[in-house]
Amino acid sequence: MVIKTKNTTLEEWVRLAPKAGESIAVYAMSNTARRLIPLYLSTGIKIICILDRDPALNGTFYNGIPIISPDEFSDKDKTIIICLSVAFMPVLRRLRSMGFKKILPYYFYLLDKEIKLDISTIEDAQAAYFDNWMLSRPANDVLDYVDIPVTMKCSLRCRDCANLMQYFSSPRHADFETMRRSIEKLFAVIDHIFEVRVLGGEPFMYAGLYRYIEIIKNYSSKYTLLTVFTNATIIPSQKNLDALKDPMITLQISDYNNPRQKIPELLSVCEKNGILTKINKGFRWQDSSRIRRHGRTDAENMELLRKCVVHRCAAVVDGKLFYCPIAGNIYTLKAAPEEYHEFVPLLDDKALDCTIKDQINKLMRTKFLKICDFCGGRPLYGNDIPAAVQTDKALEYEKYGDSL
Ligand code: SF4
Ligand code: SF4
Repeated sequence: MVIKTKNTTLEEWVRLAPKAGESIAVYAMSNTARRLIPLYLSTGIKIICILDRDPALNGTFYNGIPIISPDEFSDKDKTIIICLSVAFMPVLRRLRSMGFKKILPYYFYLLDKEIKLDISTIEDAQAAYFDNWMLSRPANDVLDYVDIPVTMKCSLRCRDCANLMQYFSSPRHADFETMRRSIEKLFAVIDHIFEVRVLGGEPFMYAGLYRYIEIIKNYSSKYTLLTVFTNATIIPSQKNLDALKDPMITLQISDYNNPRQKIPELLSVCEKNGILTKINKGFRWQDSSRIRRHGRTDAENMELLRKCVVHRCAAVVDGKLFYCPIAGNIYTLKAAPEEYHEFVPLLDDKALDCTIKDQINKLMRTKFLKICDFCGGRPLYGNDIPAAVQTDKALEYEKYGDSL
């Protein structure tokens, strides 16, 4: 059985997997790492350091574990666990070129147990990870990621925006009252959300962004991370900056190398205001945003979902919870017939909280979504395209009704 990573066999990966008592390094300070470090420690594995290329993190600690640059790490025989999914292959290649010999994906601990050896590619291994771990968790557990899109307006218009902003000819802000009630209902019915993701479009296009942040902060015991995503074209108002001053909030800046971005200025303002930032640079874009009916079979769409990296990233749109942001935005755009939209109505006054919670658990554990047939898919590898290519007008698509 060969996993397509330079001829590393699955058996070899299993052999490399660290055992209790062994010490490892983790790459990088990602959300996946935050989730899995406690699990690794609970199995008796020791973590000597976290490798991360962000100079701002180097020299700091996470739960007592030092964060250092990979360049500073000289133990070439030490096992390194890559806690990244989409970027796994480029990082694997880079670490191998630096001389590191034992490198494994974050779900290594499943390779010799739950995953049956009917896998031939690393994508299958990733999908099996979701089958075995994500989907088998207790029904009253957590939501992993929830997108709160506060506006469809964006200061850039990326032709291949994964959130489908390029299709909105008359973008608008989310209705504040509807979103406020949706957020409050979600926190009322869900035990815990790992990461709440506030985004747009460009969230700072909405001057009242701070109002959402303040509402979400009221539920800080119910989430682990609150991340606000920006393209750094707008320097936020002082009111919005004040709302972001919180150790649980990170302002994630997407660096597209676009001349309209003001990254140094934004970083300086954030530093002055004590706001945590993270720059996302050089990340992969995939050709997944062509919305049209693909006409796949149900089995093909199930496989698309199984291998989709947007697994369990729910999105709140128009008082409804969707499985993923693409499903939410296809609904907003009315880019698929009515019967393709599956969601949980969050604002149904007649529904009991426990009913809404059951509906969310059912939706987020589904293995088949009709709407996937209108999506290009987000596989772990492939479909790579240049990032943030701009278009000057909204893209056309087939409409099945008036967009919201
Ligand atoms: S900056 Fe580009 S990718 Fe980001 S939301 Fe706007 S259009 Fe989409
Ligand atoms: S519509 Fe389906 S394939 Fe597309 S991002 Fe959502 S879950 Fe993945």
